[in-house]
Amino acid sequence: MSTTAEPSRKPMPSALTFARHAKCSTTKARASTLHLPHGSVPLPIFMPVATQASLKGLTYDQLRQTGCMLCLNNTYHLGLKPGQAVLDAVGGAHKLQGWDRNLLTDSGGFQMVSLLKLATVTEEGVRFLSPHDGTPMLLTPEHSISLQNSIGSDIIMQLDDVIATTSPDHARIKEAMGRSVRWLDRCIDAHKNPESQNLFCIIQGGLDLELRRQCCAEMVARDTPGIAIGGLSGGEAKEEFCKVVDTCTGLLPEEKPRYVMGVGYPEDMIVAIALGADMFDCVWPTRTARFGNAIVSSGTLNLGHKTYAQDFGPIDEECTCACCRPTKQGGLGITRAYMFHVTQKETVGAHLLTIHNVHFMLSLMGAARQAILEDRYPSFVRDFFSKIYDGDKSKFPEWAVGALRGVGVDLLAE
Ligand SMILES: [Zn+2]
Repeated sequence: MSTTAEPSRKPMPSALTFARHAKCSTTKARASTLHLPHGSVPLPIFMPVATQASLKGLTYDQLRQTGCMLCLNNTYHLGLKPGQAVLDAVGGAHKLQGWDRNLLTDSGGFQMVSLLKLATVTEEGVRFLSPHDGTPMLLTPEHSISLQNSIGSDIIMQLDDVIATTSPDHARIKEAMGRSVRWLDRCIDAHKNPESQNLFCIIQGGLDLELRRQCCAEMVARDTPGIAIGGLSGGEAKEEFCKVVDTCTGLLPEEKPRYVMGVGYPEDMIVAIALGADMFDCVWPTRTARFGNAIVSSGTLNLGHKTYAQDFGPIDEECTCACCRPTKQGGLGITRAYMFHVTQKETVGAHLLTIHNVHFMLSLMGAARQAILEDRYPSFVRDFFSKIYDGDKSKFPEWAVGALRGVGVDLLAE
C-alpha cells in the first residue's frame, strides 16, 4: 500500500463537540452527547433513513415527536433530484424539507454500487450510467463533497471504495482500503464548509483484521471530527461483524463519535454498543413497518397475522409513542386489531407503524444510554436478551453470547 499516515496537514476544523459522560465499568459501552449545528444528540443513537428527504409516511412534525434529533438523507438521490442547482437555490436540504434538526448524508458511493449494476470503480471515482437517460457519469470524492456541501448536512461522509465483506478477492479488498484512505485526503481538500459540516472518515478493510488495523491508523491520523466503521452488514457472519467492530473501536480515540454504518437490528445495536460503538443507521425499522411488522421488546410482531384480529391491546404495552399511548394520555390509542385491519391495505398502517418503530428504536437507545450512565449496562443487556427469547438461554444467539463474553458479560450466567 502506498499510503502512509500523513499528520502533516493542518488540523481540520470541527463543527461538533463530543461530551463523554460515562463509560461502562465492564464493557466498552459509552454514554455521551454529540453537539451538532442543529441541536444536541444523545448517544448511543439510532438514525432513521429519510431517503428522498422524506421518511415514508411521516411529516417532519411527527418525526420530531418521536424524539429524533438526527436523520439520514441520501446524497445519491438528492443529487439526481432535485439536483445541486435546486439545493443551492433553496439553501440546502434542511430548508428544502423543513427539518430544523440534524442531517447526516452518505457519500452516494454505496448507493451507486448497490443500485447500479453497471457502476465501475477506478482511482478517479465511481463511473455509472445515469438511471434517467443512460449518459455516462462519474462520482469523484470532490463531486460527492461538493454535493454534500450543497445539501448542507451536519455530518457528511467521505466517498469510500465499498466492497462486499463476503468478497473472496483479498487483493481487491486491500486495494479498496488503500483507495478509501486516498479518497479521504481528496475529500478533506475539497470540503468547503468544515466550520459548519463535519466530515467523517470510513474505516474499510473487509473482514481482515490486519487491514482494519492499518486502515484505523491511517484514518485516525487524518483527524476527522468523527469516525465510521464501514463495509459491514453485507451478509457476513455476525461473529465476523463483532470482531471487526471490536478491533476497530479498540484503536479509535475515545474522544470522537463512532458510527457503525448500516446496522439497525436491535440485537446488533445492543451488542455493538457493548463493543464501543455510538451511532447506527438502517432502513430496516422503517421498511419493515410497511410490511406490517412492529418492533417490540419481545422481538418483531407481524400485525397482518390473524391472531391480532381481536387483540385490543396497544402495539406494545411498554411503548409511549403517539400510536401506543391511550387517548386519555393524548395518544391515538391504536390497537393491534386496528393495525391488523389496515396493515398493507391502507397507507395509514405503514404510517402508524413507522412512527412506532422509530420511537421504539430511539427509546431502546435512550434506555441503553441510561443504563450506561447508571453503570448497569451488563444487566440491561441480559434483560434485553431475556425478553426477546422469553428467558430461554438455550435460544440466545451464539454470536451475541461470544461477543459479549469478550467484553466481560456472560449472558448464560445464572
Ligand atoms: Zn408504540
